Amino acid sequence: MAELEAAGTGTISREAACRFLRSGDEMLPSLLAAAQRLRDRFKPGIVTYSRKVFIPLTNLCRDYCGYCTFRRDPGQPGAHTMTPDEVMEVVRAGERLGCTEALFSLGDKPELLFPEMRDALHRLGYKSTLQYLEAMCEQVLRESSLLPHPNPGLMSAEWLQRLARVSPSMGLMLETTSSRLLQENAAHDNAPDKDPEKRLRVIEDAGRQKIPFTTGILIGIGETAEGRVDALLAIRDLHEKYGHIQEVIIQNFRAKPATPMANWPEPDRVEMLQTLAVARLLMPEMNLQAPPNLSDPHYADLLDGGINDWGGVSPLTPDYINPERPWPHLEELRKRTEAKGFELKQRLPVYPEFMAQAAAHSDRLAQRLDLARDPEGYARRAA
Ligand code: SF4
Repeated sequence: MAELEAAGTGTISREAACRFLRSGDEMLPSLLAAAQRLRDRFKPGIVTYSRKVFIPLTNLCRDYCGYCTFRRDPGQPGAHTMTPDEVMEVVRAGERLGCTEALFSLGDKPELLFPEMRDALHRLGYKSTLQYLEAMCEQVLRESSLLPHPNPGLMSAEWLQRLARVSPSMGLMLETTSSRLLQENAAHDNAPDKDPEKRLRVIEDAGRQKIPFTTGILIGIGETAEGRVDALLAIRDLHEKYGHIQEVIIQNFRAKPATPMANWPEPDRVEMLQTLAVARLLMPEMNLQAPPNLSDPHYADLLDGGINDWGGVSPLTPDYINPERPWPHLEELRKRTEAKGFELKQRLPVYPEFMAQAAAHSDRLAQRLDLARDPEGYARRAA
């Protein structure tokens, strides 16, 4: 208890964080109160979201994560790689609805496994998925008011640099630091791109290049309490070294039918709140996000865990990663956020405090950010 009272005057230890994750319901109110004190001190009054369209550039993927319903093999029903016209159609519809982010989510390097993807890319005029992604980010930046935020999986330092010229921020979920989850029948069995060391390397390379970066953890996929804390500490350590992690997402695993983990237990509300609170205690000054659609209908309670951001919310496109869980209506999100005592603000894919880092990567980005931002760095077209 003394550790909770002292939180905010120094960082809590790994041991304390693990203990808090294992604590029972009785301790939850004081854990949440400590997290809220820190959020109110470092991120007072405002909860942000990014109004986005979701662009599933390709759902072909060379990995087979045990919880994923997004990925397809070529020829499976729903397998699709979007054409540039399809991308721009979604982008223009998003513009009409006041969106400011084009979130590119896609499978990891499908062309390494599937000749069909190599053929599709060849027909489009590209050698790799990353090259096609770069061209589409560039087109979105050139022809629309939206700002791209790509999530393409593992990238080399060179690709990070190329994408940073056409997108103000990008992301890669660390998910976990537990390499045990790569073993047979675990969540990342047959998912070579989910090797934690490779993902940490990408996040570190992004840090060296000062690229505003989104990452986070996925809880409930077989990791231990220690593993969960270690993943948060790894993110914090990289941010302390490079200052580039603009937000940390805490995502809760949801079991989906017809996946190898369909019958896997989901983390409950208490576990999610404990994890959010521990994340806030470990990184009091950072932006902390939890997706509302994965905790519906009680998502407003996530604010009790100390978050200050809802992530990307779309008025147009479904969450293709979790299609069975629609995003809340934006007006409803506003009402519930205000009922908890916060102002809801629309941000850009890059957070206000990371705007200068983003603008340094290209003149075009700097110009586009100037047009898109308000004087405080939030979306000019504020909701
Ligand atoms: S979660 Fe991502 S990397 Fe894993 S299978 Fe799905 S699309 Fe591929």
